[in-house]
Amino acid sequence: MKLITDTAELVEYVRQNRGVRLRALVPTMGALHEGHLSLMDQARAAVGADGEVMATIFVNPTQFGPNEDFDAYPRVLDADLALCEARGVDVVFAPEKSGMYADDASVKVGESQLSLGLCGGSRPGHFDGVCTVVAKLFNLTQPDIAVFGEKDYQQLAVIRRMVRDLNFPIQIVGGPIVREMDGLAMSSRNAYLTTDQRVEAPVLQRTLHEASLEIQNGEASAAAIEKMIRQSIEQQTTGVVDYIEIVDPDTLQPLVSIVGSATIALAVFFGKTRLIDNITIKKPG
Ligand code: AMP
Repeated sequence: MKLITDTAELVEYVRQNRGVRLRALVPTMGALHEGHLSLMDQARAAVGADGEVMATIFVNPTQFGPNEDFDAYPRVLDADLALCEARGVDVVFAPEKSGMYADDASVKVGESQLSLGLCGGSRPGHFDGVCTVVAKLFNLTQPDIAVFGEKDYQQLAVIRRMVRDLNFPIQIVGGPIVREMDGLAMSSRNAYLTTDQRVEAPVLQRTLHEASLEIQNGEASAAAIEKMIRQSIEQQTTGVVDYIEIVDPDTLQPLVSIVGSATIALAVFFGKTRLIDNITIKKPG
């Protein structure tokens, strides 16, 4: 496995390997877990044994708000590299901040429809940071395919839109949410949870599952479902709800009445740790 930390070296590597084989990119912020690694498996499946799987590890400062956990975010590069190597990744690009952003950087990429609600509503500027860094990583690494997790449902939708609207010649592949045995969606941020919070956190997935059953059993009121989820979280955990939204899976517009497919997305604070999860339901009829 090749590790590249220098941006100029990456550019040179990509130049020298241009057009040789299919390349699939898996962008991450590191502190890798099975969720990330499943995306690397999908990347491999997409490009085949002859193709190249490239992972990036970069805690991107521009997608963190001023009071968020940028400084505290776990950085465990050696462990991450071992996991990538064991998973058959060919190249890891792990740049320094200075290799990605000039001190006086003044251009950014923004999305103005899909990124307004949900996490975009509570994390102003977050998706500008995501779009900007992903666009830069696409330009630097020149992949044919890029793989993103459905755990960050809105992020996946925003990236698909950016690729469409800016004509990046890249196929975007979504990977299903990988969960712990008790249903908690894997996240690098789970490491912040106290023992008690970790016991409570699987309620998020359980209540999303129960809500999906209610919808399948005929409950069509988004407000009623949202209330059910909120009560379940507030009664069973110390979590503080950031948002619970039921949206159209494609447009991410809030639904009043659940007629066809719907995505329920939520964010909940356990102490300072903000966890997200989602489920998409296809209602019969
Ligand atoms: P992050 O390191 O949190 O920026 O995540 C990097 C990529 O891994 C993103 O595309 C995430 O959606 C994806 N990811 C994170 N957690 C999971 C998970 N539990 N299951 C599937 N994909 C995930």
